[in-house]
Amino acid sequence: MRSLATYGPMLRSIGAETAALLLSASCAGCDEPGELLCGQCRAQLLPRPVDIRTPRGLAVRAALSFEGVAARCIRRLKGEGESSLARPLGGALGTVLAAVSPPDALVVAVPTSPAAFRRRGYRVPELLVHRAGATPHRLLAIAARRSDQRGLDARSRRDNVRGSMHATRRGRGERIVLFDDVITTGSTLDEAAGTLTDAGFDVLSAVALAATPRHRKLIEDSSTTRRK
Ligand SMILES: [Zn+2]
Repeated sequence: MRSLATYGPMLRSIGAETAALLLSASCAGCDEPGELLCGQCRAQLLPRPVDIRTPRGLAVRAALSFEGVAARCIRRLKGEGESSLARPLGGALGTVLAAVSPPDALVVAVPTSPAAFRRRGYRVPELLVHRAGATPHRLLAIAARRSDQRGLDARSRRDNVRGSMHATRRGRGERIVLFDDVITTGSTLDEAAGTLTDAGFDVLSAVALAATPRHRKLIEDSSTTRRK
């Protein structure tokens, strides 16, 4: 008769799998069962800052590139309500925010729509600012329901976005660092900066959690003369 010890490794393995299943925890970055974020994926969320500019010239520093593990974690935070991921992502953001933001500057997150807030129960940009160890100041709000962008040409789309937010109060020259979670074209940050400037605030720069890789490609392309 086999001793129980023979089954030990198998039982331990089943035990680990059962525990993981019961906790229904798997790594958000690679699906490895066991924890919310494995050590390898956690290392992928260390900040790797990218400096870019919006179409209107606002300086933006992004903590991460929106690809791989970082992109998966951000999608799960935004799309699947995995709010516990705001803490590791906020860690990367905090490092960049501390480097960019003067102590007296107010951190202002771009506003999210009331519908998005109802769906998630939290505002992703503000949650990330909190997890980065800063206080978000709600100086911007969504102004009006935007009409459907489909079927609009480029100019109509710009007009459609214009006036989409308003300042919640007048400013007296307070210095602002803007925040958005993912920067793609930068037009949202430009709209936010323009709205706050018109209201009397002094927008210094912006910080993003992640920038889409096309930004990194632009930087690489402009820093080399090599042609493919
Ligand atoms: Zn992982």
